[in-house]
Amino acid sequence: MTTTPTGPRPPVRSTVHGYPRIGPRRELKRACESYWKGATSAHELDTVASGLRTGVLAQLRAAGVDDLPSNTFSLYDHVLDTAVLFDLVPSRFASPAAAADRDEELRRYFAMARGDQDAPPLEMTKWFDTNYHYLVPELSPSTRPRLVGDTPVAEFREAAAAGFHTRPVLLGPLTFLMLAKAADDAPDDWDPLTLLDQLLDAYARLLAELRSAGATEVQLDEPILATDEGRAATGRLEHAYQRLGALTERPALLVSTYFGSIGAPALRVLKESPVEAVGLDLVTDDEAVDDLVQVSGLGSTRLVAGIVDGRNVWRTDVRAAAATLGTLLALADDITVSTSCSLLHVPIDLDAETALPPELRGALAFAKQKAEETALLARVLSEGGEVDDASATRPPSFTDARVRARLDALGPQAERRTKVRGLPTDTPLTTTTIGSFPQTPDLRRARAAHRRGELPDQDYTKLLREEIDRVIALQEDIGLDVLVHGEPERNDMVQYFAEQLRGYATTEYGWVQSYGSRCVRPPILYGDVSRPAPMTVEWITYAQGRTDKPVKGMLTGPVTMLAWSFVRTDQPLGETARQVALALRDEVADLERAGIRHIQVDEAALRELLPLRREHHQDYLDWAVGSFRLATGGVAPTTTVHTHMCYSEFGLIVDGIEALDADVTSVEAARSRMELVADLGRRGYRRGIGPGVYDIHSPRVPTVEEIEESLRLAVAHIDPHKLWVNPDCGLKTRRYAEAEQALRNMVEAARRVRADL
Ligand code: GLN
Ligand code: ZN
Repeated sequence: MTTTPTGPRPPVRSTVHGYPRIGPRRELKRACESYWKGATSAHELDTVASGLRTGVLAQLRAAGVDDLPSNTFSLYDHVLDTAVLFDLVPSRFASPAAAADRDEELRRYFAMARGDQDAPPLEMTKWFDTNYHYLVPELSPSTRPRLVGDTPVAEFREAAAAGFHTRPVLLGPLTFLMLAKAADDAPDDWDPLTLLDQLLDAYARLLAELRSAGATEVQLDEPILATDEGRAATGRLEHAYQRLGALTERPALLVSTYFGSIGAPALRVLKESPVEAVGLDLVTDDEAVDDLVQVSGLGSTRLVAGIVDGRNVWRTDVRAAAATLGTLLALADDITVSTSCSLLHVPIDLDAETALPPELRGALAFAKQKAEETALLARVLSEGGEVDDASATRPPSFTDARVRARLDALGPQAERRTKVRGLPTDTPLTTTTIGSFPQTPDLRRARAAHRRGELPDQDYTKLLREEIDRVIALQEDIGLDVLVHGEPERNDMVQYFAEQLRGYATTEYGWVQSYGSRCVRPPILYGDVSRPAPMTVEWITYAQGRTDKPVKGMLTGPVTMLAWSFVRTDQPLGETARQVALALRDEVADLERAGIRHIQVDEAALRELLPLRREHHQDYLDWAVGSFRLATGGVAPTTTVHTHMCYSEFGLIVDGIEALDADVTSVEAARSRMELVADLGRRGYRRGIGPGVYDIHSPRVPTVEEIEESLRLAVAHIDPHKLWVNPDCGLKTRRYAEAEQALRNMVEAARRVRADL
């Protein structure tokens, strides 16, 4: 609702959308895992959690942040929390009566997240285009949303008791329903949004309770508005916020959007609805300011300006940010400075990192430093005054003229293989695995000891070689056709390479939540990338020396190397990807020279980096595919190029996958395998395909018969000479007993189907 400003402008305040939950030393992980093992009580878990929440508020206040968020914590996932809050628990988890005590409540909560004997967990999937995973709520026409929990109120009170007045953060109703899926028993055309009105009733009750607990403002997160589907849902958006805004018993409402701009139509709806504030992401793309101009500014609706990047680790250029905010002062009467999204996606505290190169360190900001930046920007805007030079530091550019010259010298033919082997096998149904074998506790301990300098190089190498000997012997015994060395030397498929490439740095404590108690430590790609020395050749050739069967070399592709790192922003991602690709191209050439005939370049994250909006897909696929082809385009026609992807929803990128020119693509397809294969068959897919024949994420060992049945279905759609037989991902998280039996069953199933061809 536009009004002309009267009187003096309110001072600009600062806030953040949310903060990491895991604790500075991954305290949450330890507390959860120890509770799951039965080593600690529910009370002990809750005590750790409460300490972490209060710690975050204290840290934000110390950083100078004015408006503090609460309810940004979760024991596992905030989407799951929202489902539980509104009683949206599938019947397979519901206990007969409402949870009797805290243990019972937690048992059900963690069963939804992780499964138990009686019930498989909710499906887990990526949170927009991040590497955070949420649990997908299952809804059906008989679902009745109602407010049954009180976590947002309890955490508001807990914060108040510790001296913090907070703004409870809730997942917005539109985003919640659009991220949910129809349960298996729902009719095919049923849409979870059908439940919008009932869910709004439940939100209304929650808002009233928060109001009576003393909350003056609540944040409703609607990141779905950055996607094509969300942008198109203006009718529902208007309906939802007209209703919530019209409530009389409620705190002020901040509707927060992030992961991209939302477009002028959705922004107009929010501006004209009775909500007090709107949060916009000013970092991900540069369209938000245009949207604001198009709707003639927000008038008296407060703008929460997400100007500090919540997804990356670079310091904000405070001078440039202050200039942007300056233009926004003309487009809203009241402004709060914030982060572009929750700080969930960045590590907690740069101060903990003592080993980073100083010039790099000076260019970085983690969650705590970003909170300080919002406070600084608010001060600069309120009080005017100069930004000193130190706070205007830009990321250093670490350029390497040699890398640039080499890339410039490569013509387009570098990305074209002379001959892609459409039918790569002489035998039908070639069996192989995706790369890693189980990482035993012994291996992990040895790697940690080696890292600490307590295990000498020769001893570590000897140990790894013994492990490779075992893995090769096991595969021969099982009867697999194309072997792997098992990746015992790798801590992680990205970090292992990042540690060896110039232009990358790794952190000591830079943990980020991936899902539940699982955290990753993304490396930082800060300069031009090059490969000082071969990275994998020693291990692969050692393995090849132990067998007459072919051993597959194993590399991580350029897109995945970027997706699971923090990446420099001073040049387009596509350019950075080409540098990584060039380093990999050298590695591929060295592997070939060493006699390796199968080379796999994993692009586990190709789908994940796909932009949220279709209009950006082609640009992305162009550079993503180009960089893969640059990495692999130098191989001889006799070399078989493999790639692997960790998902099976190919609809959007199937053409891109074909354009990679890989001879064989293995995919995670254990659940929807036959649909994928049938689809590829219809499309006349020309390359080799290895649809994962069983789910490695579960400890369950598949039977020969079930694998056999899948393979028989597959050969009905795909030429068996193009069909590879493999598990659906690497085996590193499994135990040997499970992995070995599953592979034996897989090989036996392939043998039976071959016999009948
Ligand atoms: N080669 C890797 C492995 O087997 C691939 C892992 C992945 O796809 N996430 O572990
Ligand atoms: Zn995988």
